[in-house]
Amino acid sequence: MFGLIGHSTSFEDAKRKASMLGFDHIADGDLDVWCTAPPQLVENVEVKSATGISIEGSYIDSCFVPEMLSRFKTARRKVLNAMELAQKKGINITALGGFTSIIFENFNLLQHKQIRNTSLEWERFTTGNTHTAWVICKQLEINAPRIGIDLKKATVAVIGATGDIGSAVCRWLINKTGISELLMVARQQEPLALLQKELDGGTITSLDEALPQADIVVWVASMPKTIEIDTDNLKKPCLMIDGGYPKNLDEKFQGENIYVLKGGIVEFFNDIGWNMMELAEMQNPQREMFACFAEAMILEFEKCHTNFSWGRNNISLEKMEFIGAASLKHGFSAIGLDKQPKVLT
Ligand code: NDP
Repeated sequence: MFGLIGHSTSFEDAKRKASMLGFDHIADGDLDVWCTAPPQLVENVEVKSATGISIEGSYIDSCFVPEMLSRFKTARRKVLNAMELAQKKGINITALGGFTSIIFENFNLLQHKQIRNTSLEWERFTTGNTHTAWVICKQLEINAPRIGIDLKKATVAVIGATGDIGSAVCRWLINKTGISELLMVARQQEPLALLQKELDGGTITSLDEALPQADIVVWVASMPKTIEIDTDNLKKPCLMIDGGYPKNLDEKFQGENIYVLKGGIVEFFNDIGWNMMELAEMQNPQREMFACFAEAMILEFEKCHTNFSWGRNNISLEKMEFIGAASLKHGFSAIGLDKQPKVLT
């Protein structure tokens, strides 16, 4: 059995969805009420792979909302309680979606193994970041040529290069694609220098310097909503892959020959018959989902019950190749520009 732990993109959104689902006791509550709300198992589903294998899974809403990020203890409790619920339901492999995996890592929740009478078994959980990184790389490789960008001549900027997903994307770009130049952006300089050393390549630069040089920009950092970008200074054509969460780059990059692609989203080959991705506001919610969620499904299809993506900056090319091959085998594909009516030309 696979599990997905998710959450709403905002408090307002969470209240609207709770009301739709009939959770009236919390739908009308203020943020303090939501801070104390327990996780909810919202849906059970059966999914059949392209190979014919069937698996069962559950979607758990942690009742966390991004407005709680500054409330350290609340955020920690939300994530751990949702993980406890997944384990108590006997779920073999559960993906930590949205901010859940970032809270787990950044708040060092590894030291909180014991939740009441449950000792959390880490091998039952995955961040899903290996599949997300692989999907973003495939989206880049497939979509850049479609808009006239020759990868061999392309300069690619990775914003959030030192992150778990960003470092894996950099590793793949340097070793597997033959791109002309890799620009690496993050705030802290020391991890950037270490990454450059590991890759034996890539140029460390700032966001302002990277954007005008880049044919392709991979965004794998949660950027502040207030960030201002002058689209006149971008190359044309320019491919923007919005791999961060929440996905809001299409609001910022409107202009001729600027193509914004939702990064880290996959489509299943068949309708799944679930409601959970409507809650996540996918364009085709019967088939589309976050790649991190799909990783839990793929691991369950493969009977690979292990914390496949875990810790920070452990994603190897071999693991990306394994999850990528399994993803295709079971009927997932990365969404592309042609799937997005919102493409701006
Ligand atoms: P990490 O926390 O591991 O990495 C974040 C990276 O962004 C670091 O390199 C960090 O470096 C950098 N960063 C953060 N803020 C800024 C800033 N203001 N300017 C420049 N760089 C910045 O995160 P993950 O790799 O786990 O996840 C990356 C993003 O992908 C997140 O937004 C996450 O929510 C999203 N995600 C999306 C998924 C999907 O759509 N399928 C699945 C999983 C995650 P530094 O701190 O030095 O700046």
